[in-house]
Amino acid sequence: MNAVHYRIIPSSPEAHIFEVTCTVNAPDPAGQILSLPAWIPGSYMIRDFSKNIVSINATTNGDKVAIDTIDKQTWRCAPCDATLVITCQIYAWDLSVRSAHLDTTHGYFNGTSMFLSVQGQEHLPCSVEILAPAGDRYRNWKVSTAMSLDGAQTHGFGQYCAQDYDELIDHPVEMGDFTLATFDVAGVPHDIAITGKHRADMDRLCRDLKIICEHHVALFGELPAMDRYVFQVMATGDGYGGLEHRASTSLLCSRYDLPLAGNDKVSEQYRSFLGLCSHEYFHTWNVKRIKPDVFIPYDLRDETYTHLMWMFEGITSYYDDLSLIRTKLIEADSYLELLAQNITRIQRGSGRLKQSVWDSSFYTWNKFYKQDENAPNAIVSYYGKGALLAMGLDLIIRKHSQQEKSLDDVMRYLWSEYGKKGIGVNEVSIEQEIIELTGVDLKDFFERYLRGIEELPLQKWLQEQGVDVEFRTPQSSQDKGGKKPDSADEKVNFGIRFTNKTEGVTLTHVLDNGAAQIAGMSAGDVVLAMDGIRVDAKTFDQRIAEYKTDDRVEITAFRRDELMSFTLAVIEPEADTCVLTIQSKIPEWLSD
Ligand code: ZN
Repeated sequence: MNAVHYRIIPSSPEAHIFEVTCTVNAPDPAGQILSLPAWIPGSYMIRDFSKNIVSINATTNGDKVAIDTIDKQTWRCAPCDATLVITCQIYAWDLSVRSAHLDTTHGYFNGTSMFLSVQGQEHLPCSVEILAPAGDRYRNWKVSTAMSLDGAQTHGFGQYCAQDYDELIDHPVEMGDFTLATFDVAGVPHDIAITGKHRADMDRLCRDLKIICEHHVALFGELPAMDRYVFQVMATGDGYGGLEHRASTSLLCSRYDLPLAGNDKVSEQYRSFLGLCSHEYFHTWNVKRIKPDVFIPYDLRDETYTHLMWMFEGITSYYDDLSLIRTKLIEADSYLELLAQNITRIQRGSGRLKQSVWDSSFYTWNKFYKQDENAPNAIVSYYGKGALLAMGLDLIIRKHSQQEKSLDDVMRYLWSEYGKKGIGVNEVSIEQEIIELTGVDLKDFFERYLRGIEELPLQKWLQEQGVDVEFRTPQSSQDKGGKKPDSADEKVNFGIRFTNKTEGVTLTHVLDNGAAQIAGMSAGDVVLAMDGIRVDAKTFDQRIAEYKTDDRVEITAFRRDELMSFTLAVIEPEADTCVLTIQSKIPEWLSD
């Protein structure tokens, strides 16, 4: 019997309740302290998972043990000298990759939402018994997790185990009647388990994912030791997101992103799904094993600050799509379209001129993860701009080493010297190490573009590789960039982002120095009419396109319950929409 044993019972799928017990064989004689994490690694925001604990109680030999609350997520049991059993009822109704979800169709949980950590015993091996819900309707349910088997059959209910608490909470569990397919990478079985209604071509998914996985394994030289890897996919109407784990990833996607049988093309949606899978699998090395030193060990009670998120999310975001072209799953034009769309997203936020990627990493807790209507004007994404920094780094290293070295060498170094050895990356010394490894003086690069807010010299970087960079004005609010314009006419815009409202159009963002901001409009305003004619989200772009620079538009809008009018002077649109074209032949950097 392990020192700590857990049991998960989906006791009431209808009420979204898991019953979780934690059995401590040798509790602290001074009174056992237990706690639940406040955040989950990979998603840098305090989420207070303990808020979903509906009840908690403790017993020893069947007798009740008193529990004292220490803080919102920490409890102390009264001293007892025999086995201590703590039982929690946990509410699970968050269909995201970050916490837990249970209903009559399936169950999913992250350990951070379910397993109390036993203070002083976090380093000890533990076991988990996962039970099926009671009732005939659940007879086809099975289990998908990368947790080690400890009596359970593969994909079955029963006992699993982990080496310590840190590992225990890093293997999310899906239970239900999901679609399952398995392929092999580097001798390790890789599952793809899809929950939710879908019509995906599983053979195609296995074939394409295997290509991506093998590419990443080849880049790092080996797959870290694991029994199995799992892609846990939740297909919904319009979901998107992923969370990385040491031997699995939980993904949320639209069922329409998945490929259908008989169609060999890579649609834009499927390309985005493959990019997501590629991203999370790359994390198996970069962030799950190559980590900032402050993450070893994780302190899951409070925020943990690092300036290095650009390395872990930015570099990963660079390689996610890059690997799709390197493996020829997509064409060069398709890759450059994605790259140009990322450049466009960054270019459209004036926040890039106010916040450095270095600071974006640090303030992820209260800024990046808590974006509000002013985010585009105030912050920059360490994913998006971090990926451009990673590309800049790669292209500079290639240029100065006559294509002898690249960012791939940096990644292999990080794996062999840090990830593989379990040593954390130090934010002060790592830059010098990259400089020494590559022989390229990157001091100026880090100061100006990572810690500084200078515009990235994208034109220079890409032109040297044989790619032309062009900026044009956007054609509509739907224009993501990456493509030549549909018409040569320049369309004006009001410097807004908006969404549909039953009556009118709601402004979600008002961009710095745009026509709407100058006119005094704000996010949240509900636009009802332009020049006396009713507007709706469907035709809003078309209506805006009727105007030319210097025209005046009378806008009627509700701010809260007050009817207001604004005179908007149309200004010249900004060329913030990027298009990339190959000059003659596909650059070496895309075909390595
Ligand atoms: Zn990521």
